[in-house]
Amino acid sequence: MRALVTGGAGFIGRWVVKELLTGGHEVTVLDNLSAGRRENLAQFLESAGFNGLVEGDIRERELLARAFPGQNVCYHLAASINVQNSIDDPGETFDNDVAGTFNVLEECRKNNTRMIFVSTCMVYERARPDGGIDEQHPVRPTSPYAAAKLAGEALTLSYHHAYRLPAVVLRPFNTYGPYQRTGGEGGVVAVFTDRNLKGEKLTVYGDGTQTRDFLYAEDCARFIVAAGSRYGLSGEIVNAGSGRDITINELTCLICPEKERIIHVPHIHPRSEIEKLVCDWRKAERLLGWKPLVSLEDGLTRTRNWMEMGVTGR
Ligand code: UDP
Repeated sequence: MRALVTGGAGFIGRWVVKELLTGGHEVTVLDNLSAGRRENLAQFLESAGFNGLVEGDIRERELLARAFPGQNVCYHLAASINVQNSIDDPGETFDNDVAGTFNVLEECRKNNTRMIFVSTCMVYERARPDGGIDEQHPVRPTSPYAAAKLAGEALTLSYHHAYRLPAVVLRPFNTYGPYQRTGGEGGVVAVFTDRNLKGEKLTVYGDGTQTRDFLYAEDCARFIVAAGSRYGLSGEIVNAGSGRDITINELTCLICPEKERIIHVPHIHPRSEIEKLVCDWRKAERLLGWKPLVSLEDGLTRTRNWMEMGVTGR
């Protein structure tokens, strides 16, 4: 396959690029480097299948028009991904995640490029006490970010229905691992691991009883690439997660054994918080033969080891 990965210099994107190159595919990355980093791609520069980085924005339609011809599949990961940023500035999230996705879809339609839209578990209503969230579970956009992703999903599915464009929607649960950012756009595992290594305090928002289902980056990338490699999936929505949720309090204790460095602070966006997220990934197993392979404990160790390498002068 010839694949275009939007957001390919970002955290999940670079793992997707790695998985594609390992599978012998050709890869072009399109990224505006707002959250992504050129260094995330450094190890691929010599790879035979790597066709380079196009530095640019999914809001620039002329740039997209030049990047798409000849691409068989587009893995669309470029997005504003931070819940709080979307509350502070919903316009930017809308421009990137809705208008940007529309621009990508238009190029897919013109070039007959398969669309793999990487959405998020944040679109879902909280899990019920007795089971995981499958793809039939109700959605509930509690933030402009979730709403923008739902809009992007709807646009993607409309291109499948209206134009028969091969298009799939993926909803990975909270993904973590090496290369995730430790600042604003990073996830809680990266933020807390970094703070722990620096001897700083870990701030839990609210009472910390909210739960998340953490998916290791390489498991996530295998899932995304598999979805773009199969035919007959068009029009489907597919989840991926570990199938196990953990409270943020428990996660914090796993990352930092020193209780005095864990503090609770008022939640920054209590109205947008989802109290319980746990994935039912059986559809991914059925359609893709996918299953998660890396346990949370193993993934946390890998993440910590990678960050420690950085702390000592990466
Ligand atoms: N969280 C926290 N402290 C932090 C960052 C995050 O307690 O410094 C919590 C956050 O409130 C949420 C969970 O950790 O319940 C996951 O947050 P993240 O930003 O990683 O992803 P989200 O699921 O909110 O998109």
